[in-house]
Amino acid sequence: MSNDFRILVVEDDRSVSNLITTTLRINGYDYISAASGNEAVSLCASHRPDMILLDLGLPDIDGIEVIQTIRSWSSAVIIIISARSEDRDKITALDAGADDYLTKPFSVDELLARIRAAQRRISYLSGRNEESPVFINGDLSIDYTSNIVRISENEIHLTAIEYRLLTLLAANVGKVLTHSYLIDRIWGSGIESDIVSLRVYMTSLRKKLRTSETQEDMIRTHIGIGYQMIRI
Ligand code: CA
Repeated sequence: MSNDFRILVVEDDRSVSNLITTTLRINGYDYISAASGNEAVSLCASHRPDMILLDLGLPDIDGIEVIQTIRSWSSAVIIIISARSEDRDKITALDAGADDYLTKPFSVDELLARIRAAQRRISYLSGRNEESPVFINGDLSIDYTSNIVRISENEIHLTAIEYRLLTLLAANVGKVLTHSYLIDRIWGSGIESDIVSLRVYMTSLRKKLRTSETQEDMIRTHIGIGYQMIRI
């Protein structure tokens, strides 16, 4: 990761903000901080952070609105840090363009792990060759020209829907994709009952990906929210 990698911390609760910024400082991260939504949008425009740690409950504008505003011109990785335990808020934030979330109270180790995962995503995206017909993540490879999926050189046979699911997750590696996002992309509708179908296809896909020597499960389930492919 380059030395000018910068994180914007948006949090109005001073004790939480101090915990985050102290953790970042100790671990050598360059950061700036904001205590309101408007300040966050303005700092984001002036300092162009690579990553934003965003509290959803802010004193002025809602965190969701901050995401929508920032997303219209920034591709910074947005990790929501929120006390709200309701899945609905997380889903709205993810659909608005956030990449990942952390629920308060969180451990410092968990925060650092999320930041490192997001950095792997950023470095993958910046080094990605758009022309490359092959996606590689750990033991997994997807050859887009021949539609062949392999795990450690062994070809895996997927159905059309499983393949579509896998390529959606791969194209958004590191990002949490909500159920409605996936259903919309695959079936073009957002009917609640489709979540059951989605779950069935996802279970089957993961089983196929796991049948080989793969040690790590690269697809993470976010119960009640969606799925995420982890950059290995
Ligand atoms: Ca707050």
